[in-house]
Formats: sequence, structure tokens, C-alpha cells
Amino acid sequence: MMKFKRTANTILTGGFVLLLMALPLLPVPPFWIIQANYIGMAALVTIGVVLLTGIGGMTSFGQAAFAGIGAYTTAYLTTAAGMSPWLTLLIGLLLTAICATLLGWITLRMSGHYLPLATIAWGISLYFLFGKVSWLGMYDGLSGIPAIPLADIDFKNEKPMFYLIWTVLLAAIWLMSNLLNSRSGRAIRALKGGRLMAESMGVNTGHYKILIFVLAALLAALSGWLFAHFQRSVNPSPFGIKMGIEYLFMAVIGGAGSLWGAVLGSTILQLIGDHLQVILPKLFGGAGNYEGIVFGVILILLLKYSPQGLWSWLTGLFAGIFPAVEVKLALDHAGALTRRTPPAAGSALLQLERVSKCFGGLVAVNNISFELKAGEIVGLIGPNGAGKSTTFNLVTGLLPPSEGSIRFLGHAIGGLPSRAIATRGIARTFQHVQLMPTMSVLENVAIGAHQRGAAGALRAMLHLERTEEACLLQEAARCLTQVGLQDLMYEQAGSLPLGKQRIMEIARALCCDPVLLLLDEPAAGLRYQEKQDLAQVLQQLRADGMSILLVEHDMGFVMQLTDHIVVMEFGTKIAEGTPTAIQQNSAVITAYLGGEA
Ligand code: ADP
Ligand code: MG
Repeated sequence: MMKFKRTANTILTGGFVLLLMALPLLPVPPFWIIQANYIGMAALVTIGVVLLTGIGGMTSFGQAAFAGIGAYTTAYLTTAAGMSPWLTLLIGLLLTAICATLLGWITLRMSGHYLPLATIAWGISLYFLFGKVSWLGMYDGLSGIPAIPLADIDFKNEKPMFYLIWTVLLAAIWLMSNLLNSRSGRAIRALKGGRLMAESMGVNTGHYKILIFVLAALLAALSGWLFAHFQRSVNPSPFGIKMGIEYLFMAVIGGAGSLWGAVLGSTILQLIGDHLQVILPKLFGGAGNYEGIVFGVILILLLKYSPQGLWSWLTGLFAGIFPAVEVKLALDHAGALTRRTPPAAGSALLQLERVSKCFGGLVAVNNISFELKAGEIVGLIGPNGAGKSTTFNLVTGLLPPSEGSIRFLGHAIGGLPSRAIATRGIARTFQHVQLMPTMSVLENVAIGAHQRGAAGALRAMLHLERTEEACLLQEAARCLTQVGLQDLMYEQAGSLPLGKQRIMEIARALCCDPVLLLLDEPAAGLRYQEKQDLAQVLQQLRADGMSILLVEHDMGFVMQLTDHIVVMEFGTKIAEGTPTAIQQNSAVITAYLGGEA
């Protein structure tokens, strides 16, 4: 959900759409319309690239090959089998979905550069498949493809095609921007840089990776289908790896982070590319292939001076002229979400028994045992490197324990994936703040509520989940109010001071509706009064039945808040007891003062 209706953005896109719709009515040469058709078809693929690469952080060189599946499926089935183009569209999309799911399933689970490499291999092999198979017409391709049959409209003509292509494109932009402004969209936007955080908030990030990979492939296939019926013939060259790279290029030029950037990038490349092919050889002489060099130079300049792409530069320019209008959310009308009932105070909630974690030869957590009862605030303290954060990672499933057992509400949770642990009611904050800097504070916190919603991507795209979405955002707003950040709800999370970001993480964790909250140094970077406010918030949470495991270096803060303290040093538990007992414990004093006691 956007905080601001950016006036600049609205005026730009609105003006663009109006101009576009008027284009065929103006006395322009048919060539212009044909160009606009190619731009629209390229933009359709590029939207997928923006979704996948710009927003999801996954690079694919194989989008042109997916367009090829859409194009060749309809080309072959309409010419050889006489099928209706509408039927072949469905078959092409289905085939693409199957290929993309398989390819995604195999490669997306691997880390590192497997996806880009796999998509290169995929792009190259499909290109050769199109070129070598005799019934696909080899390198000559297939021709005689019928025009799209719809009512009495003559789609042999470029103008009806223009309206069809751009309607499809605008619909795709609408669907995708709905998707991005939803529960699924927050998960998708967290894929780039926030994967571990999202997983520990209960998000199945693998699911969303495959989802956007398949969606991007489907957009490409749809574009390929339009392309085949517009050209009325296909050959392998528009579906090769070179075109795959060009789509990436369009996304980067326009702005890999915004859907409209895809349209801008495709327009620029389509217009400039053709002219460069004519102008450059004249400038430099000879028949060389200069566009590659010029594009390379433009790309370097862009990455240096406008890494967000030209779209954000353009909206920034317009934003100076047209001020932003704030649109607040109508949160009050949403119903409340159901909440867990906390376990009876005093019952065993979290039990660690002889838990160890080794990193190679380093024993970061060594044979640790302690228990946390429902309704308690337990402090976990110790010098830097004692193994406190590692203990948090073991309890929340970011790391599997090397040995020992971790039980939560009586069930073993050691080694479970972190989202499974989140589902059971454990939520956490991070010592090194993990947030999505360009998303609003409200949206960041709403990631915590992911598992409390159920609407899938399709409903989000069609805007059929607005009631649930309002409930989730309302809950996020409630959690922000609980920690006193309600006034910063609509700010960009990245612009908050570090101390406030930490508090925002607490709100996000609360949004998971946990029964156990793990806070890793929540008071670091806070001033005295802010610490007092935080202490009050935590006391109120305890009064409401929340249990808290707290890592903190400020001893005053810890002593004032906790019911029980566990002290670690070099991975080992050296003491545990009430705050008063710990303050007088000689081993603890030695650990903290370095043996002078
Ligand atoms: P604390 O939070 O108490 O300051 P940590 O749990 O972060 O301590 O770290 C405990 C020890 O484990 C440190 O020596 C640290 O360098 C090491 N360590 C933590 N995480 C990893 C990791 N992923 N790989 C290797 N060593 C690690
Ligand atoms: Mg730590």
C-alpha cells in the first residue's frame, strides 16, 4: 500500500497513457504504430524482468526464450494443426508455466550464480532447438500464421494490434502493481536482501521466488504469442540470448525497480536501437556492429549517475513541480485479526538442553541449558562473542544446533526451518537491523503479519483481497502504536534513526502474534528516555502475557526488567539466577571486569 499518491507519478503515467491512446487517431505514419507495437511487446517481457530482477533480485537471461515458447507454440499449432490462436495461447502459457516451474524448482533452491547460468544455458538451448528442428522450420522459421480472430476486427492491420497489445500491457502493469502492493508483494520485495528476515517472519521465500519466476515467464510467453500473430511468421533470432540480454538492458535503463520503468526502457531502446544501427556506421565508417559499444557506455553512465534508472530520475524531476499528495489509509474500518491465547503463566515455554553449535573448530555455543517460563522476561547476557546471537539463531531456526535439544511448548523445534518455528509462535528482532529500507514503516511491520493472512497472488492481482489486506495493515498499525511509533508509520523505514529502526523491528515481531519474543540488543542506540519508554513497553507486554528472551548490554536496563538472567562467556553458561544474585556472582563479575574482582 502506497503512502503517497505521488502526483508526479500519476501525471506522468496518466499523460503517457492518454498520449498513447491518441496516437493512432493522429495523422502519424503507419511505421510509428508498428514501432509502438514492438515497444509494447518488448515492455511486456521487460515488466517480467523488472519483477524478477529489479524487485526480486534474480537475474535471468532467458526471458526471450520464454517468449519463444509462446511464439512457436502458437506458430506451429495454428499452421500445422489449424488450432484457434486462443487455444494455442492457453497451451503456450501452460507449456511456459511447466518449463518455468521445472527450471525454477531446479535452480532457485541453489544459491549463488546458478540461476543466471541456468537461464543462459536455457536461452541458448532453446534457440538451437528452434533452429535445428525441421518441423519448427529450422532457421527459416514458420510462416502463414493467421491473424488473431476476435469479433470482426481485422488484426492483420497494425492499429487494432496496437490497441490489443497496449491493452494487454496496461492490464499487466495493473495486475503486477496490485500484486506488489499486497501481502504477497511485501514478501516478493523482501526477497532481495531480506530473505532470512522474511523466513523468520514465517514467509516461504522459495515459494515467492518460483512465483515471480513463473509470472515473468508467462508475461514473456504472452508477448511471444502477440509477436507471432503480429508478424504472422516466426524465426529463432528474436528469441536468442542476445535478445535476452537486451530485455535486461531495457529494465536497467528504465529503472529496474519500477514497472513503468520497463515501458520507458523498452521505448528508449526500441527507438534508439534502430537509429543507432543506421547512424553509427555512418559516423564511424565501415559496417561494424557499434550499438553494443554505445549501449555499454550508456549503461555504465547510467549505473553511475542514475542507478535507479531513468524513470525514477523523471519522476524525481516532476516531483519538484507537482508536490506529493498524502493519502492516509482507512485503517479504522478493518476488522481485527484473531490472536493466540498465551500459555498459562509459569508453565515451561522454552527449554534448551545441552545445546551446542560449532562453526568448524569454533564452539560458539557450548553445552548450554536453561529454561524460560511463560510470562517471564529472561535476560541472556555476556561479553561480545559469548554466543548470545548464535543462541537466538538456534532457537529461531536460522541455524541448526550441532547437538542438544530445544523444546518450545513441549515440542522439539531444534533444526526446524525458521518459518516453521515462527508459525509456532516465536518471533525475533535482529542485532543487525534487518529491514526493507525503501518500504514504509507500516509495510515493513506488516511483513510480520504474513502468516495471519491467507490471500494468494491471484487474488492480490485482481484486488480481491482488500478486506484482508486492510486487516493486516491495521494490525501493523496497532503494533506500531503499541511501541509508540504510530507517528512514523508512513515514513520510509530506511530514513529512521537506528534506535527507531530497532523499535520498528519489535513492532514487526509483535505483528507475528508471538507468545515468545526474542529481542537482540533492542536498546542499543537509544537515549536514556527512549530506553525508559522501551522498558515500559516490555513490562506492559509481560503484563499482557508475553514471554521475552532479551539480550542486552545495558545492565541497568536488564536488571530493572528481567525475572531471571542467564550469563554466557565463550559459548558456555557461567551463571544463572535472579538479577540480585547475578549482580553478586563472582564468576560474572570476573567475566565482566576481567579478573580484577
Ligand atoms: P554474541 O552475540 O554473544 O556477541 P555471537 O553469537 O554473535 O556472539 O558469536 C559467537 C561466536 O561465534 C563469535 O566468535 C562469532 O565470531 C562466531 N560466529 C557467529 N556466527 C558465526 C557464523 N555464522 N560462522 C562462523 N562463526 C560465527
Ligand atoms: Mg550478538
